[in-house]
Amino acid sequence: MGRPTSKPIFIYSEAVLNYFFHDEHPFNQKRIALTKQLLECCGFLIPDQVRAPRMATDEELLLVHDREYIEAVKKASQVSGQSSPGQEHPEFHPFGLGTEDTPLFPDMHRQAVLAVGGTLLGAELIAQGRTKRVLNLAGGLHHAQRGKASGFCIYNDCAVAIEYVRRQYDMKVLYIDTDAHHGDGVQWIFYHDPHVFTFSIHETGRYLYPGTGHVNEKGIGEGYGYCLNLPVDAFTQDASWLDCFERGLEAVLQFFKPDIIISQHGCDAHFYDPLTHLAGSMSIYVRMPELIKQAAETYTGGKWLAVGGGGYDIYRVVPRAWGLLWMVMNDVPVKQGPLPESWLSAVRAHVNGPVPALWLDEEEVLPVIPRQKEIEEKNRLMLKQALSYLRQQVGPH
Ligand SMILES: [Zn+2]
Repeated sequence: MGRPTSKPIFIYSEAVLNYFFHDEHPFNQKRIALTKQLLECCGFLIPDQVRAPRMATDEELLLVHDREYIEAVKKASQVSGQSSPGQEHPEFHPFGLGTEDTPLFPDMHRQAVLAVGGTLLGAELIAQGRTKRVLNLAGGLHHAQRGKASGFCIYNDCAVAIEYVRRQYDMKVLYIDTDAHHGDGVQWIFYHDPHVFTFSIHETGRYLYPGTGHVNEKGIGEGYGYCLNLPVDAFTQDASWLDCFERGLEAVLQFFKPDIIISQHGCDAHFYDPLTHLAGSMSIYVRMPELIKQAAETYTGGKWLAVGGGGYDIYRVVPRAWGLLWMVMNDVPVKQGPLPESWLSAVRAHVNGPVPALWLDEEEVLPVIPRQKEIEEKNRLMLKQALSYLRQQVGPH
């Protein structure tokens, strides 16, 4: 075992930017480079902390994915490299590939494997005691299923890493998903497993992909009770979102007592995000990581692997949200302060309209939600219903 390092590790190489569908596609990993530049401008990320991801092996992918599916992704990579633009490939549709959400692109197998390898490297570094906290922003591809791509996700890096630490280190894993979309892929893969608790807070699936993540999805068989979903109403704002998240996390921790936390940090619950209907501000992207860090310090000896996820306002939201996550991971105090001018001027060239100049959102730009009280009440009722089973298990406090 190597000498333990106290510094968190940031997994990155320019190769992760090649997970790229096409110019008009909302999923764009340029946001990771923008985050890294922002952190470097501020002096919060030093070269010493950066490690390049490795490739995952087929054997590792097989921990959660079907062989037939992996072969289909490999074939799609080749076919895509040879076909003309706009050419349809319906033979891949049963695998969720070549769809509008997850179109083919050359070399897609290798690029997806690199995202998995980054998360696996993080899991290894933590499990071997080399560091306590790792961030792989290229990961968080939580919608991928065992035999099917879905919602921009080809391989499920979160699920592969969870199964890896289960088998190699016999750890109990708490998976926390803070993306605005339900973490369905991870949930279904571990739905039967009482050694993996999946906790997802998200916008209700009534009008949003993937449509699942109801409070009554609690696991099955031996895994019953090891799954918690908090589907909040559209236009939910910071206070109600955080109230649900904090109480949900507290109940999960009392019930489950994990050995490691793996958290997904999609940042598409922000009011600027173009794909969802939530009204969160940057404050939730400080508070949620703080609560997760505290949970790790209390329950897992600090072991915390964080990954990226959704986030489609790649200039105004994602770099700040992921930058704040990294600051929390590094115990850098988060203040209401300005972003560096050199970074802002580079970003402004890409955005029509004003770009936020501070780390946190200013009061006057927050949306006014006329139904706020009604939404908060609905979320309170949802939370009560969602937590009833866990509260029965741990008893009154
Ligand atoms: Zn999302």
